[in-house]
Amino acid sequence: MLSATLRAMRIDLHTHSHVSDGTEHPAELIAAAHAAGLDVVALTDHDQTSGWEEAGAAALELGIGLIPGMEISTKTDAGISVHLLSYLHDPTHPGLLEEIELARDARITRARRMVELLAEDYPVSWELVAKHSAPGATIGRPHIADALVTAGVVTSRTEAFAQVLTARSRYYVGHYAMDPVKAVKLVRAAGGVPVFAHPMASARGRVVGEETFTAMIQAGLLGLEIDHRDNSYEGRKFLRALAEKHDLIITGSSDYHGTGKPNGLGENTTTTGMLERVLAAGTGSEAIGMPRL
Ligand code: AMP
Ligand code: FE
Ligand code: FE
Ligand code: ZN
Repeated sequence: MLSATLRAMRIDLHTHSHVSDGTEHPAELIAAAHAAGLDVVALTDHDQTSGWEEAGAAALELGIGLIPGMEISTKTDAGISVHLLSYLHDPTHPGLLEEIELARDARITRARRMVELLAEDYPVSWELVAKHSAPGATIGRPHIADALVTAGVVTSRTEAFAQVLTARSRYYVGHYAMDPVKAVKLVRAAGGVPVFAHPMASARGRVVGEETFTAMIQAGLLGLEIDHRDNSYEGRKFLRALAEKHDLIITGSSDYHGTGKPNGLGENTTTTGMLERVLAAGTGSEAIGMPRL
């Protein structure tokens, strides 16, 4: 008897494990993605790829496709934070490695300084922050938020970000990150597929203007993450028009962080056609355990 499966593939291309600021081991994240009914998931920890191996083994075991990825911290001359997703790049590319290592180190110095400032008013310490991060994890404000929760200062990461950790807070300190145009070029040089993460997340802070999009596209940007809960409604319309004009890949993703954020796996998804474009453009590493698309 013939049984045709007409269910569309469920593809989520933006998630975090405790290699950065997610709350689960990479293998746990893959199990959660499988349980959520996803067919393909990308692991995109901030500024590092050390979760790829564990995630790949879990993906093969469970029968789910894994796109190895990363979310790179960058900053414009005007000081605007730009997150750049990279898929299928070569994780050993020296130029890219050097820059993400600089960003990770700068994040530690910056977090230590923020904790010093916070410790003037709240019962937090670097030791407490360290307890809330996995060894070697890319340190971010979410780890400081977890320490503030344990110290009883706030009840959740969300509350911490709404109060003491916002970029407008007196405890906020910035950190070095390369320019987004340089990041796009490095990702391409490493055989990766650069996709601008949540480009119109205006509630998080300032967003870049059209000139930055143009510069990034000229440098080799290949995609825009449009369906993401933090992009504004008006912003998505602008992004769709831009994608159309420049024939860019468009993605939709959850930006799942385990229990660290309300974002649920598969809450936004990417089409099979767009995933095929990502796979065709990425030459620096292999997707793992991919189902037939
Ligand atoms: P940082 O990279 O240290 O500047 O911190 C930014 C990170 O914090 C982002 O990667 C987000 O995942 C996370 N984040 C931002 N806003 C929130 C929020 N309201 N609740 C939980 N996590 C957040
Ligand atoms: Fe994050
Ligand atoms: Fe991001
Ligand atoms: Zn993210």
